[in-house]
Amino acid sequence: GCTAADVVAALRAAAEVVREHRDELVRLDQAIGDGDHGENLKRGFTALLSRLDAEEPASPGKVLKLVATTLISTVGGAAGPLYGTAFLRASAAVGDAAELDCDAVARALQGALDGVVARGKAVVGDKTMVDALTPAVTAAASVDGSVAAVLSAAADAAAEGAESTVPMVARKGRASYLGERSAGHLDPGARSTALLLRAFADAAA
Ligand code: ADP
Ligand code: MG
Ligand code: MG
Repeated sequence: GCTAADVVAALRAAAEVVREHRDELVRLDQAIGDGDHGENLKRGFTALLSRLDAEEPASPGKVLKLVATTLISTVGGAAGPLYGTAFLRASAAVGDAAELDCDAVARALQGALDGVVARGKAVVGDKTMVDALTPAVTAAASVDGSVAAVLSAAADAAAEGAESTVPMVARKGRASYLGERSAGHLDPGARSTALLLRAFADAAA
């Protein structure tokens, strides 16, 4: 099982990964957006680290809720409300259980995807984080094993899904303003989704 402390540890690991990949995410967003995605996420996860130092939410669901409110108020841009909604729905999906099993983790990922889609109305093929998150949810639901195994399958699928955005023409977000010129570039939000899931999986392993 995965306790509140485990979820906090996974988020601290994710914050470190965001910091390490800040410049890469900026470069990806410079190619097809406005170049702020890496800085937006770094600001959000830095704020999250401070919040996690100050409070100790009692359940995994409460930790996920704290992530949601922090990211919504600090990340900005398109990704802030999208990631915020993702964590809010993930929190709602796991309720107030003291520990998450692999079914709860799969439900949390499904909730996250539902939240992103409800908020941003993107479908697979639009060249967004939905292209990473959708295959991750499918993979998570099809693995029967430990939390670590479920997250690892989700992270692998997300990485493949992110790569699949390279040839796509963007139909949502700033990149869509470029039309056909958006093709040939990795979507920054799909890349950050894959990085976050890999960080969560490595922390659970
Ligand atoms: P902004 O575009 O406002 O500067 P960011 O650069 O932080 O925001 O985030 C851009 C990312 O947000 C994109 O790479 C894409 O993955 C994601 N995104 C944008 N619009 C949508 C949407 N409608 N649905 C899902 N994801 C989206
Ligand atoms: Mg941007
Ligand atoms: Mg911006």
